[in-house]
Amino acid sequence: MSAVAEKAVTTTDESVTTDGFHLLIDALKLNDIDTIFGLPGIPITDLTRMAQVEGMRVISFRHEQHAGNAAAAAGYLTQKPGICLTVSAPGFLNGLTALANATVNCFPMILISGSSEREIVDLAQGDYEEMDQLNAAKPFCKAAFRVLHAQDIGIGVARAIRSALSGRPGGVYLDLPAKLFSQTMEAAAGRNSLVKVIDAAPRQIPAPEAVKRALDVLKGAKRPLILLGKGASYAQADTEIRALIEKTGIPYLPMSMAKGLLPDTHAQSASAARSYVLAEADVVVLVGARLNWLLSHGKGKTWGQDKGAKKFIQIDIAPTEIDSNVPIAAPLIGDIGSCVSALLAGVGSSWAKPDTQWTGAIAERKDKNLTKMAETLAKTPSPMNFHSALAVVRDIVKANPEAIVVNEGANTLDFARSIVDMYQPRKRLDSGTWGIMGIGMGFAVGAAVITGKPVIAIEGDSAFGFSGMEVETICRYNLPVCVVVFNNNGIYKGTDVNPRGGDVAPTVFVKNARYDMMMQAFGGVGAHATTADELRKAMLEAVASGKPTLINAVIDETAGTESGRITSLNPQSKANKK
Ligand code: ADP
Ligand code: MG
Repeated sequence: MSAVAEKAVTTTDESVTTDGFHLLIDALKLNDIDTIFGLPGIPITDLTRMAQVEGMRVISFRHEQHAGNAAAAAGYLTQKPGICLTVSAPGFLNGLTALANATVNCFPMILISGSSEREIVDLAQGDYEEMDQLNAAKPFCKAAFRVLHAQDIGIGVARAIRSALSGRPGGVYLDLPAKLFSQTMEAAAGRNSLVKVIDAAPRQIPAPEAVKRALDVLKGAKRPLILLGKGASYAQADTEIRALIEKTGIPYLPMSMAKGLLPDTHAQSASAARSYVLAEADVVVLVGARLNWLLSHGKGKTWGQDKGAKKFIQIDIAPTEIDSNVPIAAPLIGDIGSCVSALLAGVGSSWAKPDTQWTGAIAERKDKNLTKMAETLAKTPSPMNFHSALAVVRDIVKANPEAIVVNEGANTLDFARSIVDMYQPRKRLDSGTWGIMGIGMGFAVGAAVITGKPVIAIEGDSAFGFSGMEVETICRYNLPVCVVVFNNNGIYKGTDVNPRGGDVAPTVFVKNARYDMMMQAFGGVGAHATTADELRKAMLEAVASGKPTLINAVIDETAGTESGRITSLNPQSKANKK
């Protein structure tokens, strides 16, 4: 360690030479990147030490996938690419899952992996952890680059940053062969080789005729709806988006990660009348939301196809997104801030707010559904079910609107999304576009480290298992993370039985497991909650103390449905079709 520190001192400022290690660190720092999420090992161990010596935060994980997820979350929350650093072959592959997920979700991140020597890899001569990582990464990210010479590190990092951030954000792979790190060059020339990226995500102003077309379609609407996606939250155009919604009086629907862009309690939120507005709206403005499976591809009964054609206005930075699933009447290509501002400018003072027949019908359904939900949430069954436990979470989040909520699971995800209101932009991170499990602790650590805000992770017991070992990471960095494991003894629920006897059913876990003890094992706070009151007490303490906490919330093992709300995607045997 001391040798490393010494080296760092002599290679900055006065020294005549620098090396690949320091050029990479200097290139990142020059571009205001101050945090690395990763996992040390050959050939990047010294790099992590030196980065720390040079004042960067280096957050070490127990598995690269979670480091990658942390980087992706950091990228989404800050509009700076999150950096994930891994070793070669297996470490790289572990990180690749997160890189692919970031790309699918349009989160900017850069996976930097050390790799074996090209000469040996390309001749398949059997190097340590031999793998053609550059080509392996390509199908799973937005761009992939390899740097072979120290003098190209600056350009390599610049290209990675620009690729991650410009246009539709996404994941970038940067391949750094082991030999590169120890290459030396003259320090002054090294400094000159670095690139500070200017305007990495340039504004993209929509064409005036596209704006006019969109306004014309909107003016013709009888039952308009604005649909906000996570692209809208990412864009940090919060003020403009709120102004557009309030000035036009159009009801809006947030996708799960757009919740809180306006407070979920906003009068114009149509969340509690979701199926009604999707089926009945005649013009829908998509703001940074794709018509993928999460929106039934814009077709079918969900969208009231039987009730006549719907017109879409779609705001997106990616022109090829348009017409991906259904025809788009008015594409508006540009960054969300510029597009929404252009629409706002066209919405003059004479703008006619939507008919009260439309808004009134929505309000009626909302009231009915919210009253019904309030009745369900008021119940305190024993053991707890998803609703009674989430009623507690809902109160805690309401009292701590700055807290970031991480959420994954099947039923735990579906119910939390609709029950837990969000009040501020970019406070909800979840399974995202793929609907995946395993993002939990990575997102939680990334969010806590990059924002310094408290994190509340609402985890299905199965979902938690994918990243559970990272509770050690949470304890090691003493992060203000409160994990609540919704423990119903299994995947979907804990009641499956193997009709042949012998092994337990594949969806069932150890009954009555005590996940709280995992946190205690590393010095954090563990709490076991069998009632809503116990859960409330434990969550209040966790948020007040900021101590790493894991609450094992015991949920009725018969609660929950197979695959949560996406049962339709699950090919089921006749016997299980209920
Ligand atoms: P959700 O799942 O919440 O509906 P999606 O991830 O499907 O959201 O859609 C996000 C969309 O936002 C993507 O099509 C992406 O191209 C777009 N997008 C991301 N950032 C911006 C931006 N700054 N300006 C415009 N569009 C953006
Ligand atoms: Mg479960």
